[in-house]
Amino acid sequence: MSKATPPAESNHRPGFATRAIHHGYDPADFAGAVAPPVFFTSTFGFGSLEEMDAAAAKGGKLYAREHNPTTEILETRLADLEGAEAGLALATGMAACGTLMLGLLSQGDEVVVHRTLYANTVALMRDGIPRFGIKVVPVDLSDPANLDTVLTERTRLVYFETPVNPTSEILDIGAIAGRARKVGARVAVDGTFASPALQRPLEHGADIVLHSLTKYINGHGDVLGGALLGDRETIAHLHSHGLRYLTGATLSPMAALMILRGLKTLPLRMEAHSRSALEIARRLQAHRAVAWVNHPFLDSNPNLAVAKRQMSNGSGMLAFGLKQGFEGARRLLDGLRLAHKGVSLGDVETLVNHPASILRARQQVRPEAKPIDGVGEDLIRLSVGLEDNDDIWADLAQALGKV
Ligand code: PLP
Repeated sequence: MSKATPPAESNHRPGFATRAIHHGYDPADFAGAVAPPVFFTSTFGFGSLEEMDAAAAKGGKLYAREHNPTTEILETRLADLEGAEAGLALATGMAACGTLMLGLLSQGDEVVVHRTLYANTVALMRDGIPRFGIKVVPVDLSDPANLDTVLTERTRLVYFETPVNPTSEILDIGAIAGRARKVGARVAVDGTFASPALQRPLEHGADIVLHSLTKYINGHGDVLGGALLGDRETIAHLHSHGLRYLTGATLSPMAALMILRGLKTLPLRMEAHSRSALEIARRLQAHRAVAWVNHPFLDSNPNLAVAKRQMSNGSGMLAFGLKQGFEGARRLLDGLRLAHKGVSLGDVETLVNHPASILRARQQVRPEAKPIDGVGEDLIRLSVGLEDNDDIWADLAQALGKV
């Protein structure tokens, strides 16, 4: 916590919202500027070679691919909010994913992944890291016992998202981590759909958390970023190997500032996203054109108890299918007026996506593109924004009337 934060009692730990606004930055260090400065510099200069040697010897600031004071405020703050010892910010969520995989895994290692993941993470697992002699083993982790059937002495990492993109299913972090630990495999959780305001996987036994900062953490759809959070030693390794020379995927300091700004309202936004999405999910469930709806906090979620154990709220993401399947989904998307058709999520604007349509379009240029396990042709993904709930529903209801 910064010196500027009022320490009401010496043993009082400020709450999440306070830390999201203040942690890791003291205006007194920067001429009293309440908003952190943005350091635009490629290199750091030294008065003498001795000083430069000393900085190099203790891993200090030499060059901005590895160090930037603005980005370090973001890393410190995110680590604190996630309950991690350290954090590393990267250029995008995929940069974080690539840095994690290339930084931790070597030829001959195995990584177990849940069968359903974000589409480009699937591409990394199918076409990317196997080229380096790393074996990827997809499995259905919705039953954590399935993990036991694929773990070997070569399993180094178990990787999954919860809630899962795009299905919004919930995976049991504690049960999966407990099983992975028996063979000494590490567990990395992509918590993008929940953000640390709702879910902190390290508290449930995970070792590393990944976020696409592009989504809820920035929250305003105007910048890309990614982060890895975990123990000091692992993050230092990912920094000095993964970021420094394997990917070089540095976050811009301007993006770091914008993400710090978005982060200040994260708890408020997540509460509003969650409330509105649950309301929309219930309304969809009651509509005659709708076949099924997934939202973590819906009573019909078969993993509701797990969701309530590891999440403080259900988040703004939901998935649903229409009785009229693929064609119905296309008609619905075409009928929407307020919700933007878009592939991102977690913004203040409501965004809607139909993965099967994207796949068909991609297959025209890449015929080898395959569907993702667990994602049906009817699945519609909705990222419920912060517009008035009645307006979001009115838009959906008029479009549903046309399918
Ligand atoms: N993880 C999840 C769950 C995502 O949804 C995404 C992007 O949609 C990513 C990772 C990748 O993040 P980025 O787009 O910032 O590279």
